[in-house]
Amino acid sequence: MKPGTMVDPYAIRAQFPGLAGTANGKPFVYLDSAATAQKPLAVIERMDRFLRAEYGTVHRGLYARSMRSTQLFEEARGTVARFVHARSPDEIVFTMGCTDAINLVAWSWGRKNLKPGDRILVTGMEHHANIVPWQITAELTGAELVPCPLLDDGSLDLEAFDRLLDGRVKLVGLVHIANSLGTVNPVKELVRKAHAVGAKVLIDAAQSAPHRVVDVRDLDCDFLVFAGHKVYGPTGIGVLWARQEILAAMPPWRGGGEMIEKVTFAGTTFAPAPARFEAGTPPIVEAIGLAAACDWLTAQGLDALQAAEHQLFTYAEERLREIPGLRRIGTAADRATVLAFTMPGAHAADISSILDLEGIAIRAGHHCAQPVMARFGVPATARASLGAYSTREDVDALVKGLMKVAELFA
Ligand SMILES: *Cc1c(COP(=O)(O)O)cnc(C)c1O
Repeated sequence: MKPGTMVDPYAIRAQFPGLAGTANGKPFVYLDSAATAQKPLAVIERMDRFLRAEYGTVHRGLYARSMRSTQLFEEARGTVARFVHARSPDEIVFTMGCTDAINLVAWSWGRKNLKPGDRILVTGMEHHANIVPWQITAELTGAELVPCPLLDDGSLDLEAFDRLLDGRVKLVGLVHIANSLGTVNPVKELVRKAHAVGAKVLIDAAQSAPHRVVDVRDLDCDFLVFAGHKVYGPTGIGVLWARQEILAAMPPWRGGGEMIEKVTFAGTTFAPAPARFEAGTPPIVEAIGLAAACDWLTAQGLDALQAAEHQLFTYAEERLREIPGLRRIGTAADRATVLAFTMPGAHAADISSILDLEGIAIRAGHHCAQPVMARFGVPATARASLGAYSTREDVDALVKGLMKVAELFA
């Protein structure tokens, strides 16, 4: 953390109009940032300004408005490249979301590079977005999808990982921070191990990119994905970062305009990456908004945000111990941002509904991680998750609400 860069969550909160006002007549307490983050004025106003005064199509127009729009769109790619410390903007592919970015890799890289006998190794704590595309690709290519088991605290079984990691593994899929457990995986070390057997590594940074510095050069991974809407940017856009030489060798996956070099009925040649993977009119407004979100996060200071959030996370964990019978799911030594739990007699949906009456928004369900629910023998969990704007008052309101739940179900 840079000296002098302290985060003031109250000043941050004031920049989020979506957090003002009430829910069910109570002050709105938003603890579902792991599902989607609220938007700061910097993002809302940038998109508004672009839509009002600068909007035009990209890459095609030969008039000033379109050329300006193209320039802003490509500058957004540059901003995102700097945000993840990429070597070049050409390593950034704009997708429709995090899920879409993983599907791109599974369809394009996977179908070209996987064959019968090959293995795709993923952790047992992946979001469905990093499981299902690989199941489909495995089915098509004859490769096998293998999950690495978890320990009882929700950390990855590193001995099992070492055992499963052999020359058959061609791709390792790793969630950086698990959205269902809060487990922070030692991704850098796992990348090193995977590379030692010649496997490529995809990091799902959906839950890390909003909360800490994500540096693709430092992580040394091959693919990294995240979603715009979880980094305080808009929905409808996500990012695939991939090493340039890998992207250059990947075949197109969707065909259409923008991704071609020359089209005839005899055949088509394709544009170089990243354009090759961006068929059709791209999410222009969303790319501008995402760049504003990256700039906003960078301006707050990601190291400072991480330090402040860690303090609040520790406070929240301490306070949750006051709730009778509450069982935390996800207690790995390295954990962050997500607080999942169950309570005796109360279904997760009951917990969420009772909290909703108090104006408190948390998530209840399987969190798109059904294998994690099966691993811990629960149908669902309740999950509170933190954002840059979260405060002690939010945590205190949560604890007060959970006390009511505990009384009702005692
Ligand atoms: C939210 C999330 C995804 C999927 O993101 P989408 O925005 O739904 O595409 C993938 N992985 C993790 C860890 C997530 O939290």
